[in-house]
Amino acid sequence: MLLKPLGKTVHLGIDLGGSAIRAALVHGSVLLPKTFQRTDYKDDAATALNDVIVYYLDLAKRLDLVVEQIDIALAGNIEPTSRVIVSSPTIPSLRGRHLEDLVENFAGLTITAHNDANARTLGEWHVSESPKTDNFVAIFVGSGIGGGAVCGGKLFLGEHGAASEVGHIAVEYEGYPCPCGGRGCVEQYASGTAILRRANDLAGTSDRVSFETALSLLQALRVKDAIAVQTYREAAQWLSMSLASLINLYDPGIVVLGGGVMESTDGFFETVVEGTRGRLMPLAKQGARFTRASLGDTGGVLGAVLMSYT
Ligand SMILES: [Zn+2]
Repeated sequence: MLLKPLGKTVHLGIDLGGSAIRAALVHGSVLLPKTFQRTDYKDDAATALNDVIVYYLDLAKRLDLVVEQIDIALAGNIEPTSRVIVSSPTIPSLRGRHLEDLVENFAGLTITAHNDANARTLGEWHVSESPKTDNFVAIFVGSGIGGGAVCGGKLFLGEHGAASEVGHIAVEYEGYPCPCGGRGCVEQYASGTAILRRANDLAGTSDRVSFETALSLLQALRVKDAIAVQTYREAAQWLSMSLASLINLYDPGIVVLGGGVMESTDGFFETVVEGTRGRLMPLAKQGARFTRASLGDTGGVLGAVLMSYT
C-alpha cells in the first residue's frame, strides 16, 4: 500500500493522545504537523477536537487545498457498525460517545476513527526499512502499552477490530486489576505509569523520598539509583516476556519498538531486545530484525489516514 499525493485534496489526520492532540494534513506525506495542548482537554475532548478541525480546515483553505476526509486515531476501541467508542482508557469522557455526535457536521466530510496502536503500527510498517516484510509487529511503551501486527501484508484486526491488544497480555494470574476488566496485564507492570508506581512502592518500603514524576525517576536511573535500576530492570523483563509471546505467535520479519519510555530510557531498547531474543523459537530468533520506531509523534496521524484505506 502506497500513499500517493491526491492533487489538491488532502486528508486531515488526528491523533487523540492521552494528554494532547496531534494533527497534520496528509498529502502523500505528513504536512504541517502540530501538537495542541489545553487544560480542559481531558474533560471536554470533543470541543478540543472540533477546534483542531476548524484550525486545519481554515489552514487548508488558505493553502488552496481541499480536506476531503478526517481520520482519527484514539486509544481504545470503536464498535465498527454502530461507530460508538466502547472503551477509552486515557480519555474517559469519550467512552460511550458516538463518532457522529463527537464531531460536528463539517459540511458532509467523511469521518473515520481507528485504534491508535493499530494506526501507529500501520504507519511504522509503511515507512519500515528495506527489505520490506509482509509480517511485522510493533509495540509502543508510553504511559500505556499498545501494539499491532501485520500478517500476510494486511493489518490484523481480528473479528471485532480488537486484535493485538499487546498491553493486555497477562503476565500474572492474580496480578494488579486493569481497567480492561482483566488482571495482571503487562500494562500494569511495564508502562510508564506502572514503572513510576512500582518505584514509589519500593521507595515507600525503604522509607525514602518518592519520585514525583517519570522525569525524576529517569534522572535517578541515570545516576544508577538502586530503586530506579531495579524498577526499569523488572519492567524490561515483563516486556520481554510479552514481546516474545507476540513474536512467537506471529513470526514477524521486522519488530518495531517505540513509545516514550522506549525512546527516552538509555539502554532500555537493548535490554528488552536481549531479554526477548532469549525466549524466541529458533526460526523467529534467527529471522526477526528489531528496530526502533521512526515516526515519533506523527505515527498515529499518518497511521489514521492509512487505516482509512484498509
Ligand atoms: Zn488489561
